[in-house]
Amino acid sequence: MDFTISKEIELIAKTARGIAERYPPEYWRELDEKHEFAEDFWRDISEAGFVGAVIPEEYGGSGMGMQELLTIMDNLSSYGCGLAGVWYLMITEVFVALPIVRYGTQDQKERYLPKISSGEYEGCLALTEPNAGSNTFRISTYAVKEGDEYVINGSKIFITGVDRAKVMVLVTRTTPLEKAPKKTLGITLFLVDLPNKNIKYSLIPKHGINYSGTFEVSINDLKVPEDNVLGPIDYGWYTLLDILNPERMGFAIGAVGTAELAIKKAVEYSRERVVFKDPIGSYQSLQHPIAESYAALQAAKLLTYKAAWLYDVKHKPPEDVKNGDAVMKRVLSYKEVGDVANMAKVIAVENAIKAVYWSMQIFGGYGYAKETDVERWWREVNLLRVAPVTQQMALNYIAQHILGMPRGY
Ligand SMILES: Cc1cc2nc3c(=O)[nH]c(=O)nc-3n(C[C@H](O)[C@H](O)[C@H](O)COP(=O)(O)OP(=O)(O)OC[C@H]3O[C@@H](n4cnc5c(N)ncnc54)[C@H](O)[C@@H]3O)c2cc1C
Repeated sequence: MDFTISKEIELIAKTARGIAERYPPEYWRELDEKHEFAEDFWRDISEAGFVGAVIPEEYGGSGMGMQELLTIMDNLSSYGCGLAGVWYLMITEVFVALPIVRYGTQDQKERYLPKISSGEYEGCLALTEPNAGSNTFRISTYAVKEGDEYVINGSKIFITGVDRAKVMVLVTRTTPLEKAPKKTLGITLFLVDLPNKNIKYSLIPKHGINYSGTFEVSINDLKVPEDNVLGPIDYGWYTLLDILNPERMGFAIGAVGTAELAIKKAVEYSRERVVFKDPIGSYQSLQHPIAESYAALQAAKLLTYKAAWLYDVKHKPPEDVKNGDAVMKRVLSYKEVGDVANMAKVIAVENAIKAVYWSMQIFGGYGYAKETDVERWWREVNLLRVAPVTQQMALNYIAQHILGMPRGY
């Protein structure tokens, strides 16, 4: 086992840290309060090649993998950006660019990837539905084939970034659940150009991360050309797994980075704040929970990088990405990526929440004031208990698919 950090990774980390230092916590505090998108930051991370990190060089990207992308996110997040260090990259790069890189046709790659790499195109993923929630198989947004196009109707909820996106990965059914040979079949992914008059959306006011909007979406008689099917028809669940695993990795590293940022700030404060005789940082009741969560966060980080390594080195889609059986077999044969990514997400998020909670506690009343930023990081890391996957669903996965316990739902 070799944990040496390569020169290339060191350089990526240094560049990300340089950008993060230009976008400190007060920048994000202001945008969160004003509900504004971080235009300057987006431009800078595009120019640094971060938005195109996983996009091959022939399409204007940096030709890197998940390990490098996590390094970028890790450093952006822990050096000042908090969860914003991963958020925009997740929405556009992981949700949209990555599946196009892995499952797109030549034409789809040429149409979308150069514009995503340059930062011109943002994207969004429309998966969650009001009546399906964590049970993706129950989605009812439906695509019917008519000639050489599909007509799509349905509704989606909590779709982040649809207001700015130029391309959406839309998850639909093309075979009803009751007619599918098995419940994982009958789902198909589409690339949809936005804006589109047949897609309407309205903002969901939310608890945190207000430098990015999240929306309810309705889709009425949307026509999408057959050429815009992404990956195999009816086997979209397996293509989706290829997005969901990196999604868990990205948010795991975002949780760790945000918590490390909060810890750094709280530790500095604890060394100076004196209310009795010694600095409050000398009290073991404050030291132990912070130390315990810090150690667990380092373990979560290692697990997250392991998931990325498995994904980069061992997990490649088959040659023929339109062949559903081949895609299914290939994705199932790399179950270990999902195993490690789910475990990483669970421990990263639980310990990030614990770390940020204790950071707030260290700040006493000031932790409740906006100016210290910890209350914002608290709102940010708490989201990760429910999205992108709830902690309970990730634990269900570990219990059933790793430990072999029976399924109770
Ligand atoms: C800010 C934000 C941004 C989001 N962005 C996007 C996006 O861009 N695109 C997108 O598609 N989605 C997005 N989502 C949706 C997110 O992925 C879902 O909210 C999440 O998957 C949970 O689904 P749900 O909210 O319907 O909860 P539900 O599935 O209704 O779950 C409710 C509760 O029941 C528990 N529960 C349900 N089933 C089980 C079970 N079998 N065992 C144990 N407990 C269970 C859950 O753990 C949870 O605690 C976003 C959500 C938020 C809040």
